[in-house]
Amino acid sequence: MKNIAILGATGSIGESALKVIRNFPDKFRVVALSANADIDKLNERIKEFKPFSVGVNDCSRALALSKMVKPGVRVFAGSAGLVELVKDKRIDQILFAISGAGALMPLLSAIESGKHIALANKEALVMAGPLIMRLSGKKNARIIPVDSEQSAIWQCLKTEDGRSLKNIYLTASGGPLRKLNKQALKEIRLKEVLKHPRWKMGKKISVDSATLMNKGLELLEAMFLFNVDISKIKVLVHPEALVHSMVEFIDGVIIGQLSITDMRIPIQYALSYPQRLESKLGGIDFCKVGALHFEQPDMVKFPCLGLAYEAARKLGTLPCVLNAANEVAVWEFLREKLRFIDIAEVVEKVMRSHVNNPKPALRDIWEADSWARIEARKIIRRLN
Ligand code: MG
Repeated sequence: MKNIAILGATGSIGESALKVIRNFPDKFRVVALSANADIDKLNERIKEFKPFSVGVNDCSRALALSKMVKPGVRVFAGSAGLVELVKDKRIDQILFAISGAGALMPLLSAIESGKHIALANKEALVMAGPLIMRLSGKKNARIIPVDSEQSAIWQCLKTEDGRSLKNIYLTASGGPLRKLNKQALKEIRLKEVLKHPRWKMGKKISVDSATLMNKGLELLEAMFLFNVDISKIKVLVHPEALVHSMVEFIDGVIIGQLSITDMRIPIQYALSYPQRLESKLGGIDFCKVGALHFEQPDMVKFPCLGLAYEAARKLGTLPCVLNAANEVAVWEFLREKLRFIDIAEVVEKVMRSHVNNPKPALRDIWEADSWARIEARKIIRRLN
């Protein structure tokens, strides 16, 4: 029996994880849950799974929840609350299914206390990848990726010697706007951006998929997770989204991981590792699929990917700045205060005015994060 904590239990990944867990009541026990603000949904999950700790990011709602739960259930508030929640000795593995920079401190705290991690959050790794990987090595806290591409690469590399790796082919579905021209992108509305052709996801990641920033974040994530130089990571647009990524070795052999597009598959493997458990989701009918297609990403139409490559080459605080500026710009786009094409514009301007710190400590990372958020808001104000 594995004791699991799920941070971000009411979001898309969290919901999928709970579906997986419901199928294996003799393998997994939910011992802690957290949500951003949706305490009604969280409370339903608390009644069903009976965790002993819960966290709510929004502090006033945490207070409201504490009046709803049974005595004995510990309620933690805010990011600082999550930092404490993850230290509990009864937790074996923590699924980080919250999006955004807010995952960084709880993640560091979880690793520090030696917990195994199933990581769906991208932003923390992009901000502080080298720091996180160093700490996880030191504390023997295994980080298993949940993101479908990173899970694929991780599975392809599992039994291999890192020195025999030649290239990683990071696949991208291309997002919902792949076929639109530049003019159409200028006028695109929020509703169309949120309609992803292959994956059902949260709002932040849906926008990131449309700008290709999601692939940019994944590029950085892969560099840190697998300790690979950026020159070895190639992004390939693959609209069928069945090959979740591939690895090429020095002898020319390529191993890829394929499965249907359902996040429950990588989530289940991250939770059950090193075992594989049965899934009733089914496989791929190759004869029905017929053909798989691959093409180069269009970095002129989608400049965010190019910006991420730049951050990946320069490293230091630049990936953190890219992420913070993007979070602010996406948030403003979701509030319909910024045009779609201006997201890349904001990120680029913030990156251009940043003085990179090549070897940042944690406090330098937070300083760069705050600076980039303020800078992004200034630029957005000028654009409007
Ligand atoms: Mg992905």
